[in-house]
Amino acid sequence: MTRYDISRSQLAELLEGEPKYRLDQIWHGIHGQFREPEDLTNVPKELRSAIRDLLPAALTPIRNISSDGETTVKQLWQLHDGHLVESVLMHYKDRSTVCISSQAGCAMACSFCATGQMGFDRHLSTGEIVEQVVRAVQQSQTKRVSNVVFMGMGEPLANFDNVWPAVRRINSDLGIGARKITVSTVGVVPGIQRLSLETLPVNLAVSLHAANDKLRNQIAPINRTYPLRKLAESLQAYRRAKNRRVSLEWAMIDSLNDSQGAAQELAAFARPLGAHINLIPLNPTPGFEGGGSSPARIAEFQEQLESFGINATIRSNRGTDIDAACGQLRAEHIIRPSKRRKA
Ligand code: SAH
Repeated sequence: MTRYDISRSQLAELLEGEPKYRLDQIWHGIHGQFREPEDLTNVPKELRSAIRDLLPAALTPIRNISSDGETTVKQLWQLHDGHLVESVLMHYKDRSTVCISSQAGCAMACSFCATGQMGFDRHLSTGEIVEQVVRAVQQSQTKRVSNVVFMGMGEPLANFDNVWPAVRRINSDLGIGARKITVSTVGVVPGIQRLSLETLPVNLAVSLHAANDKLRNQIAPINRTYPLRKLAESLQAYRRAKNRRVSLEWAMIDSLNDSQGAAQELAAFARPLGAHINLIPLNPTPGFEGGGSSPARIAEFQEQLESFGINATIRSNRGTDIDAACGQLRAEHIIRPSKRRKA
């Protein structure tokens, strides 16, 4: 059992024979206060060592790289069975966001995504997900980590059984507001349906990238199972159930999904959902030939969307020089551990 996989009642069992208040001290110490067992100074030394040995951390740091003047920190972790996952901590003026992984690898096979190009290894456990946030908080020191986004490796809604308990834990025990937590999906409709049943008001982002089935089948193959019409239906139902807007993510790929016609299709998809759009400059990945749209083209696309009555934000492209796009650091670590490509 790893440190953040143990439940409160399992910890209570482990502490049998200890005074009752120890449970709160230790639980709150490692979650709410983000402490290492050694640093639980209100707990006797022997018990601290026992906790450290019985509940080892799940994540072993492999690499830690910062860029954008220390405002972006990318962390590569090794899991107990050797798999590698990444998380990225990004500091902005008004917030600090950690982008976390939900799976080692990914089975969704989106053509432009570095993780999609690697294939699927396994689901992360609840504790492996929660611990990424704990580590980010520890790393962040002077700045409070305010936001959590499930936009690292993996498809969170394909690992709902572990992701949802992690979301609850991040909210209730780590103290991050539900409205500051964003689950991002490529469009796993059964997962969206399950999310609609939950009352916790987290944000939902949908990685759309194409608003016609032909192109979407090609770049996001999950669309062959859950085509746009099914996706739209599930998002309408989500909106009715939760009374919350979704956002749509759109990676801007040169000459593929950045034409005026594409903007029109996107607007038609977004309008009935009242969705907000985030335009993401494409990060180049080794296995994808297409290039990113130029900044001028992205700005024009945004204006076209606005002329169709749809609001869109252009996302800043953090950490391109440290391969901070989804899965890229790990890809580089495996392919060329000593010689990183400069973006
Ligand atoms: N599987 C989930 C979450 C992980 S991907 C999902 O698809 O939403 C997180 C975001 O990064 C998604 O919007 C995804 O489309 C985007 N992304 C993946 N590869 C990218 C790349 N090379 N450049 C820009 N954005 C990318």
